[in-house]
Amino acid sequence: SNSIRIGIVGYGNLGKGVVSAIGQNPDMELVGIFTRREPSTLNNPDGLNFLHVREVEQYTNSIDVMILCGGSATDLPEQGPQFSTMFNTVDSFDTHAKIPEYFEKVNQSAVKSGKVAVISTGWDPGMFSLNRLMAESILREGTDYTFWGKGVSQGHSDAIRRVPGVKGGVQYTVPVQSVIDDIRNGGTPELATREKHLRECFVVAEDGADLEKITQEIVTMPNYFADYDTTVHFISQEELAANHSEMPHGGFVIRSGITGNNNRQIVEYSLKLSSNPEFTASVLVAYARAAYRLSSEGVSGAKTVFDIAPGYLSPKSPEQLRAELL
Ligand code: NDP
Repeated sequence: SNSIRIGIVGYGNLGKGVVSAIGQNPDMELVGIFTRREPSTLNNPDGLNFLHVREVEQYTNSIDVMILCGGSATDLPEQGPQFSTMFNTVDSFDTHAKIPEYFEKVNQSAVKSGKVAVISTGWDPGMFSLNRLMAESILREGTDYTFWGKGVSQGHSDAIRRVPGVKGGVQYTVPVQSVIDDIRNGGTPELATREKHLRECFVVAEDGADLEKITQEIVTMPNYFADYDTTVHFISQEELAANHSEMPHGGFVIRSGITGNNNRQIVEYSLKLSSNPEFTASVLVAYARAAYRLSSEGVSGAKTVFDIAPGYLSPKSPEQLRAELL
């Protein structure tokens, strides 16, 4: 067959989402899922092909694109540069402040191997970034706003769970509604980071852990929590499972600008997601198609959503796209 052969690295929420997204894309097939855990220990009712990451080098000729589904806090900084020495890759690295540094590292390894590495795609970074760029390029005089939530942030939840003494946890990002209403009505307030969102954490601590120490470590964490009003609630494992197991998310990118004769122009892109990881995975899979095509054209190096023309995401031909969607 000439379908695009996909591999997955890391079987968490995103990895599971990629499995189901591939099922919705008949031009793709899943070759295997690589994990750092012992493959036979993973729950596998659907008979998926789990493999240990140490076997990955045997697959360099049978996988076209590797979708990296590790966490941004500690997995991707290693896995991005590592896997792009062997495969075309796509990832969702979402520590915004560190994207330039991450891009440089992955670019070095992808240029050297001649592979394409799409970094930091998903919805933010990803679809939100694209919409920020378009609105800013079109409305040259204006103000940008990005709001997230209410929803669970995978990146922030991941960061909480890596704090010593933490057994489990979920973080909700909550936008301040009155501020959004004002902007939609033409207001252009200047907002400090902490005036736009609140961060609410529900944490299960290990027995005997120092709760005050955990709280301090969370609320002062740079890039993730230090710039926000963050509250930490300690709950039981049972409560976490019963009340916090869904992963909804969403948000808005708004640019409010002025053109010509002082006419106000408001551009808004919004997402309302019942499952953040399934949506993010669907974006990763569309960009895997783009990575495959770019690689077939001889392109190499790290790319972001800004570098990839939208037609590369679609399974439809350019002719079909012009006839149907233009
Ligand atoms: P998870 O914590 O579910 O998975 C991360 C990794 O942890 C997996 O790749 C897996 O690696 C390992 N893992 C998963 N489950 C277990 C387990 N039960 N026991 C031991 N190890 C486990 O993270 P998500 O999949 O939810 O998210 C991954 C990243 O995606 C986030 O860190 C976030 O940065 C990013 N993201 C980006 C978005 C965007 O818009 N750009 C949106 C949403 C998420 P292994 O199989 O090797 O053990």
